[in-house]
Amino acid sequence: MRYLSDYHIHSTYSFDANQTIEDIVIKSISMNLNEICLTEHISFDPKDNSYKFFDFKDYESEIKKLSQKYYGKILIKQGLETGEYPLYKKDFDNYFKEHDIDFIIGSIHNLNGEGFRKNISENGVNYTYEAYFKEILNYAKMGDFDILGHLDIVQRYAFKSGGIYNLDDYKDYIYAILKTIISRGKGIEINTSGLSNNLLFPKLEILQMYKDLNGEILTVGSDAHSCDRVGDGISYVYDLLKDIGFKYVFTFDKRKMNGILL
Ligand SMILES: [Zn+2]
Ligand SMILES: [Zn+2]
Repeated sequence: MRYLSDYHIHSTYSFDANQTIEDIVIKSISMNLNEICLTEHISFDPKDNSYKFFDFKDYESEIKKLSQKYYGKILIKQGLETGEYPLYKKDFDNYFKEHDIDFIIGSIHNLNGEGFRKNISENGVNYTYEAYFKEILNYAKMGDFDILGHLDIVQRYAFKSGGIYNLDDYKDYIYAILKTIISRGKGIEINTSGLSNNLLFPKLEILQMYKDLNGEILTVGSDAHSCDRVGDGISYVYDLLKDIGFKYVFTFDKRKMNGILL
């Protein structure tokens, strides 16, 4: 049987999710997931909703408790999803040093201090895509993370206004981002949160490009903020990855990666 892992899930330790960790664990076991990684939002921007919301101590002890309770049924890892790391590099780096973390998703959720929706309405779709990829490239070069989260997430906000981008328009950025993470031994995730709108973050062409560049490190995550989406599309994405020619998905333990055959 296939080893299934969902490596992007938010619980009540994130400001925007309403499922407890135990809800998630029960749902994951019912979906035959073998391993999950919680990836709670963390931010050092005083204007961000996540600011001072997340409490690592409680998070860690709850995961420990539930790991014992469900021992042998599922593996539970403790991860984080950053926001705007490039602006708060020092704070993040110190925090990562001081805490026992399995896995870090590097994400960008804002540009110019505003969300993507606002950037699109004020500056247009093309500007937003370009500024976003530029920021991701900057992050890819200097950040401490394990994988880049939902690369090309601007699609989520742009698709309704006809803003599905053409890869050729941003190819140089994407090529540079992928080359950079490969050379730094980092990876990307395939985020299934857009599947109900027929979107994958990143789109398949990027995954193909990653493969052509000999990229290997991948995680798959639902980005579930409520229980109904835990494990969503994981098996489907494994099939896609296999078709493209990837051999592994990765899990992480105290920031050390482990390849699991697809
Ligand atoms: Zn995110
Ligand atoms: Zn997330």
